[in-house]
Amino acid sequence: MLQHVAVANKSLADYTHLVGKDLIEEIYALAEPLKGLRVAHLSATAFGGGVSELLYTLIPLMRDVGLDADWQVIYGQDEFFHATKRMHNALQGDPADLSESEWATWLGYNELNAQQLQGDIDICFVHDPQPAALYALAAEKAKGWLWRCHIDLSTPNPATIERLLPYISQYPHSVFHLQDYVPEGMGGTVHIVPPAIDPLAPKNMALSPDDAAYVCEQFGVDIDRPLLLQVSRFDPWKDPDGVIDAYRIVKERFPDVQLALVGSMASDDPEGWEFYNATLSHAAGDDDIKILNNFNGVGAIEVNAFQSHADVVIQKSTREGFGLTVTEALWKAKPFIGGNVGGIPLQLTDGESGFLVSSPEECAARSIELLADPLLARELGRRGKEDVRKRFLSPRYLRDYLRVFSTIVSEA
Ligand code: UDP
Repeated sequence: MLQHVAVANKSLADYTHLVGKDLIEEIYALAEPLKGLRVAHLSATAFGGGVSELLYTLIPLMRDVGLDADWQVIYGQDEFFHATKRMHNALQGDPADLSESEWATWLGYNELNAQQLQGDIDICFVHDPQPAALYALAAEKAKGWLWRCHIDLSTPNPATIERLLPYISQYPHSVFHLQDYVPEGMGGTVHIVPPAIDPLAPKNMALSPDDAAYVCEQFGVDIDRPLLLQVSRFDPWKDPDGVIDAYRIVKERFPDVQLALVGSMASDDPEGWEFYNATLSHAAGDDDIKILNNFNGVGAIEVNAFQSHADVVIQKSTREGFGLTVTEALWKAKPFIGGNVGGIPLQLTDGESGFLVSSPEECAARSIELLADPLLARELGRRGKEDVRKRFLSPRYLRDYLRVFSTIVSEA
């Protein structure tokens, strides 16, 4: 019932020219004593969302350095995913906790998966709250256990976290993006490891300016006029309305400016569509605002093209776990403006490698500053990219996990 996910091959050596040979050699040295280690990753889905994006790179790289890494998707039906979506929202602060029957559904599917999980695992690597009860239910099936939290747990719904805590706090090891996200009462050893992007994946590989412009032109962008961009799901916490408000202020100073809001939609997420329509109506038919989604054919390469072509990239979130879109934009050496929340300030220094803002007005003022001063824009973009090179590319992520695995193995 647990589905094994097939992944491509990747070679760590291919990343040497991007991250330097010291890091690559450090990784080989760390991996040497871990050769053959059976690491089973368990997650809720293989499609969409940050977790699967990370695993499609991480699993091949773990295998390339000699680990016996495997990825399985847990079994669940609609009722389970409805309950876990509510859990996800509540853990990020939504006042609606799960009902008794939703909690029972969550636990029931965890029990099913716990029975199905094949033993003989050295490290069971459990991602996010959906399968979080597995350790409590099947601890004997692996020698080591690790829970990886990919969400922002800084201000959870108190009732929800209280109910989840007994399951997650028992894990001997856990990993969070930021210290701020570690809930009170977490037991075991807590590791802090922020995520990273794959510079060789289609979304982040180098695209020539001409190719990027060509793709954007297909979507109706006038490539000779300035473009502001936000890439993100249509979700209130990403504040697309605030981006539109900022764009309107910028337009008073730069009447030529255009805005693209690029966001992916899940076909089975009615709330997402409602919010998408609300964003459309906030744009009020302005032809210079392009609102695009994956149903218009925007995939990884197109996101790359928009990020590579835009004059200013914005991520005006009011809540943000980490913000892979931030890393992606910085990696393309784009001048970047982000909401001063969650994982965004971790990724840039205000005024040096981008700007942090807290309102549409500030966002507009910084956009105007960047459009008026291309030298400043280039300088910030370049520093942002160098920061990402040192801190947020996949090999660093792999290295940090290998360090955690070394600790787990030495304890065993
Ligand atoms: N993304 C995409 N197409 C879209 C919108 C988003 O591929 O139309 C990707 C985006 O490039 C990033 C991920 O989805 O890799 C979103 O991750 P992030 O951490 O920014 O936000 P989340 O959606 O997890 O809150």
